[in-house]
Amino acid sequence: MTRERIISGEQRDEREEQSNWALRPRSLDEWVGQRATIEQLKIALDAAKQRGEPLEHVLMDGPPGLGKTTLAHVIAEELGVADGIRVTSGPAIVKQGELMSTLTNLREGDILFVDEIHRLNKVVEEFLYPAMEDFRVDYTIEGGVGGRTVNFKLARFTLIGATTRAGMLTAAMRDRFGLRYHLDFYDPPELEEIIRRSAARLGVEYDEDALHAIAERARGTPRVANRLLKRMRDYAQVRAQGRITKIVVDQALKIEEIDHAGLDRLDRSYLAALIETYKGGPAGIEAIAATMGQARDTLEDMVEPFLLQRRLITRTRQGRCATRAAYEHLGLTVPTDVEKKNSDDQESLF
Ligand code: ADP
Repeated sequence: MTRERIISGEQRDEREEQSNWALRPRSLDEWVGQRATIEQLKIALDAAKQRGEPLEHVLMDGPPGLGKTTLAHVIAEELGVADGIRVTSGPAIVKQGELMSTLTNLREGDILFVDEIHRLNKVVEEFLYPAMEDFRVDYTIEGGVGGRTVNFKLARFTLIGATTRAGMLTAAMRDRFGLRYHLDFYDPPELEEIIRRSAARLGVEYDEDALHAIAERARGTPRVANRLLKRMRDYAQVRAQGRITKIVVDQALKIEEIDHAGLDRLDRSYLAALIETYKGGPAGIEAIAATMGQARDTLEDMVEPFLLQRRLITRTRQGRCATRAAYEHLGLTVPTDVEKKNSDDQESLF
């Protein structure tokens, strides 16, 4: 794709993240959406604080842009260790030594946030087990015959892991997290509330029906909602005296090629590939990715979760299938065997 994808939940660049920083919630009370998770988390936090103990390790999973990183920072604020959170990611930790220096610098109650934790390499992952369980690490110092293993004691810290693919985590890793939360797509009314707060922070004027229209097309994802709002603000500034109206939203979304259901070009080309090249499936993800010229990971992380949630596709043992709604969405004739194909054994996504 030549153009960047406005509705992807994926982080785009540092500058955007910095401007999003101002829009993020800072406490659990300010958090909109994910009600069950937030309630459970509040209890766990209060209990840990009352006992004067660090919080148990936390695992969060869910599609990109739903607030996993934001929630890790909120937890740090709630625990009074906003300065004591270290942020890294699975693929960034290549050697034990790198993790070793991070771990030994953590103080009691500090937080280590590991994004994309399913992408830790095996050696590093196993190095982390005793750190998580007993707050100690066995570190091998190179040199001499086979090196020398030294046992280091660590401060009692909290590991917060985030993943878009809980299914790719090893059971051994998953079991070491005492608290596990699944973040799901947000409802339009929740997104509307998030956009309302962001608009207030950005100082931008809007009409109610315009907010509603943005929320409906934000793919259930706060990062997308904030990104759309900023695009609308630009459009309104240049074309509509600074006020975000329904007309502004409709025109801007048209330019961005986002349709009435919030699908963009990439989503539609996924559906078109599945329907036109593979007759609606079942088709394997590798085959679809090759047809589209996209990376499999991109499709699995950023396209499929939303299409599945909207029931535009299903995942069966034989592969992905387009549903009746997908044909209807693209304005195509629905084949007679569509229900049969989609009723075959379905796999769960996570
Ligand atoms: P993830 O780590 O799941 O990919 P992030 O935590 O980076 O997602 O969230 C992306 C952006 O979306 C944040 O910068 C924040 O501004 C916004 N955001 C996420 N969750 C919420 C929420 N519940 N309320 C308001 N804004 C949110």
